[in-house]
Amino acid sequence: MKVILIPVTPFQQNSSLLICERTQRAAAVDPGGDLDRIEHEISRHGVRLEKVLLTHGHLDHCGGADELARRHDVPIEGPHTDDLFLLESLPAQAARLGFGDGRAFEPARWLAEGDAVSVGEITLRVRHCPGHTPGHVIFFQPENRLALVGDVLFAGSIGRTDLPRGNQTDLIRSIVEKLWPLGEDVTFVPGHGPVSTFGDERRGNPYVGDDVTGYGGVARV
Ligand SMILES: [Zn+2]
Ligand SMILES: [Zn+2]
Repeated sequence: MKVILIPVTPFQQNSSLLICERTQRAAAVDPGGDLDRIEHEISRHGVRLEKVLLTHGHLDHCGGADELARRHDVPIEGPHTDDLFLLESLPAQAARLGFGDGRAFEPARWLAEGDAVSVGEITLRVRHCPGHTPGHVIFFQPENRLALVGDVLFAGSIGRTDLPRGNQTDLIRSIVEKLWPLGEDVTFVPGHGPVSTFGDERRGNPYVGDDVTGYGGVARV
């Protein structure tokens, strides 16, 4: 498995191309825009796009999803149906933020906790992680110890919860109860900024470090 990070949109969102090297098939995760860059990586690696995967309904993550899926005639999978209101508001999001074609769409498949998603011969596990948005999902690849977490968790920070239907209690619970049990050794690609590991965040993240949450038997301070 190979993951190519492609920062897109004025928000420098970490869109990624997830490649199954055995089958040369790929998934575009969160193609928020700048499709020429994503198309460039698809051709450069000589892979065939099999699907588009979405973590949540914010424009910088899904503003280019419908167009890319149409061009390659592939399905969109995700996010969770609780983000329907955001996908419906894409025209308004595009007008407000000034990028994207602003078309509303629905995925071919909504995702839920415990679902499996395939890319070539790779299987990704789906976790529903509400808080940043109510329908946010993350993708976890157990053998490669890799998670694509969108705007749930960042290196040294967590997702915003001041946007429509954000909820900080839900977000912290999602991180502690859905991400941490996957393992300290898991490397994660956040929606913005540098890659990190769950272990590093449990040690040093000022919002969800073990010393703040009490996770792992560390005393609450
Ligand atoms: Zn977001
Ligand atoms: Zn984002």
